[in-house]
Amino acid sequence: MTKVLTVGEILVEIVATTRGDGFREAQPLIGPFPSGSPAIFIDQVGKLGTPCAILSRVGADDFGQVNLDRLAADGVDISGVSVAPGEATGSAFVRYREDGSRAFIFNIANSACGRLDATPEGDALIDTCGHMHLMGTALSAPGLAARALEAMERIKAKGGTLSFDPNLRPEILDTPGLRPALDRVLAQTDLFLPSGDEIFLFTAACDEAGAVADLLARGVRDIVIKRGAQGASHFDAKGRTDAAPIAVEEIDPTGAGDSFGGAFVSFWLAGAPPATALAYANAAGARAVTKLGPMEGTSTRAELDALITPVQGH
Ligand code: ADP
Repeated sequence: MTKVLTVGEILVEIVATTRGDGFREAQPLIGPFPSGSPAIFIDQVGKLGTPCAILSRVGADDFGQVNLDRLAADGVDISGVSVAPGEATGSAFVRYREDGSRAFIFNIANSACGRLDATPEGDALIDTCGHMHLMGTALSAPGLAARALEAMERIKAKGGTLSFDPNLRPEILDTPGLRPALDRVLAQTDLFLPSGDEIFLFTAACDEAGAVADLLARGVRDIVIKRGAQGASHFDAKGRTDAAPIAVEEIDPTGAGDSFGGAFVSFWLAGAPPATALAYANAAGARAVTKLGPMEGTSTRAELDALITPVQGH
């Protein structure tokens, strides 16, 4: 089975438990929860039994250990994670505004992970992987971005595949060099997983059908558009498939897209028809929002089957 690699931030997240216009109002805060978009993605891949690994860097602290213990327990190869004494594991703080939207404070660029560099263990790990999943946040710090792009080029050069989730939060849009890096990634992408309107950052087309047609013509093989509580759609040269949202109680939306991506990539790599991969990914995203904490809602195959069976008869 193809082994999946992702590169990027391993964080802990501290979560506000009430809504408010500032962290002083949104009290109390709870955590630390294991987090980081690539970490959540790869945890979901590992939980589905697909061989997988993450290339990252954490401080020699409890926050790093909280993550590494979870990832290892869920089947993720963590041999490419360096532990840096004297440095801090990244952190994120999230609160909910009165309208339900989220506000984040990230501490990634100055964390151990932002200084990811080449190591012999990392190089050996890259060589064992045949698929790379890249997320926009992995391009938000210079050392991290350089390593992510290097891993991507190496895996593609030996005939591997690339999935790309732009995951472009407002906080990272001003990163120097981000635009050329995104274009370089898209040019190599086989499976593209944008959320909502993100696709329009990668095309001059002004409607969704035009944007999809443009990207397919430029060599992207599969496009999956995530639509939050509206479900998701898959497009390829054969046409379009939609997944209606699964009715769930939304407790915490953080991590839905990452869990969705982890499930889609696992089924896609296993050769499942796009409609099947989409159904499982849609279930993984739906289940993710029912749990407080970004990585707490990743799912096993049995947990996804329990959501899908009554809805779609799989
Ligand atoms: P991202 O976090 O990348 O913006 P989304 O919020 O679009 O991703 O969520 C990813 C997927 O998870 C959606 O396309 C959908 O399949 C599922 N999902 C997200 N929120 C809900 C919800 N409230 N109810 C049901 N499914 C959801």
